[in-house]
Amino acid sequence: MKVLAERLIERDVSLRPFNTFGVDANAALYARIRSLEDLQRVLADRRVLGMPLLILGGGSNVLFTQDFDGCVLKVEISGVQRADDGVRWRVQVGAGENWHALVERLLDDGVPGLENLALIPGSVGAAPIQNIGAYGVELAERFHSLQAWNFATQTLQTLTADECRFGYRDSAFKHETEPRLIVNVTFALPRQWAPVVGYTDVENELRERNIQQPRPRDVFDAVVSIRRRKLPDPARVGNAGSFFKNPVISRAQRSALIERHPSLVSYDIGGGRYKLAAGWLIDACGLKGTVRGRAAVYDKQALVLVNLGGASGADILALAREVQEAVLARFNIELEPEPRIL
Ligand SMILES: Cc1cc2nc3c(=O)[nH]c(=O)nc-3n(C[C@H](O)[C@H](O)[C@H](O)COP(=O)(O)OP(=O)(O)OC[C@H]3O[C@@H](n4cnc5c(N)ncnc54)[C@H](O)[C@@H]3O)c2cc1C
Repeated sequence: MKVLAERLIERDVSLRPFNTFGVDANAALYARIRSLEDLQRVLADRRVLGMPLLILGGGSNVLFTQDFDGCVLKVEISGVQRADDGVRWRVQVGAGENWHALVERLLDDGVPGLENLALIPGSVGAAPIQNIGAYGVELAERFHSLQAWNFATQTLQTLTADECRFGYRDSAFKHETEPRLIVNVTFALPRQWAPVVGYTDVENELRERNIQQPRPRDVFDAVVSIRRRKLPDPARVGNAGSFFKNPVISRAQRSALIERHPSLVSYDIGGGRYKLAAGWLIDACGLKGTVRGRAAVYDKQALVLVNLGGASGADILALAREVQEAVLARFNIELEPEPRIL
């Protein structure tokens, strides 16, 4: 069915329901993109031509600090297709599919591999942007390729993992001046499944459940229950998960820090590099539970900033800056925000 661009584009739309921080901001134009054809129609519309564009999935990794004077492209492209070459499943998924629903649906269909990434909010299309990761698994390890619409060349491109240049909460997409809209993502999930349970929290959870040889569903259940305990549910308390990336430092920097702070939490990630627990750094500055107006550092996990109800994006950003300054003053480490700040 052909839908006219007229009907796809709305004016002056509140983005409050479309960001998990639940902050107020308006978009001058807002278009729901359910297919590549919708996208092309919207981009050719005279109202959109020349306007700034913002691609939005579930809004769980963005912080709006002002109105957006451009066109929001809300990606709602659906569809899941599966093929099996005997060694691995290839699953191609529309960018607008909900991430957690996909993980659960694949498990129900006997296709494991994404269970460690259960309960991460947001859409499939956004997952490659920051190479989502949790409990010992990153998207990059289960990724085959993706298709993205290149705004500059106006072509649909296929990108391999190498071309996406995945890193820790990072990818090529985060460094582009001309955005590309991810239309679908293809996963490669080995048929020979092995649990990833080295992460202490997962190990402990399975031990408490008395599970020695976990099945995919056991890992899924363990991850879901850990996350429910540790992280605020955005449906109740506005947040974007971890607000800061865990900083990566050199061996020399780590040694100097440990001399002054013997209980510093760090993980060896190879190549003489160490990842620090940003939550520990913030906690050590005494900021866990800090409330500034209606914005707060979550009292159960210092890495998460929350909207207690009625905070603006600017309030949350001001608190984030306060946290950054405190960590810089005490540890001489610059915390980098994880969500995209607009
Ligand atoms: C409670 C909570 C827990 C979280 N836990 C984790 C976690 O464990 N690990 C983790 O990695 N993240 C976590 N996150 C962050 C977030 O869920 C992920 O980054 C998720 O992938 C964002 O998806 P989204 O659809 O909401 O993206 P959005 O917030 O809508 O967008 C994020 C970025 O991706 C871009 N984008 C979105 N869709 C597309 C597309 N189709 N094409 C091109 N660009 C696009 C946007 O322009 C924006 O720059 C958590 C967030 C919350 C609220």
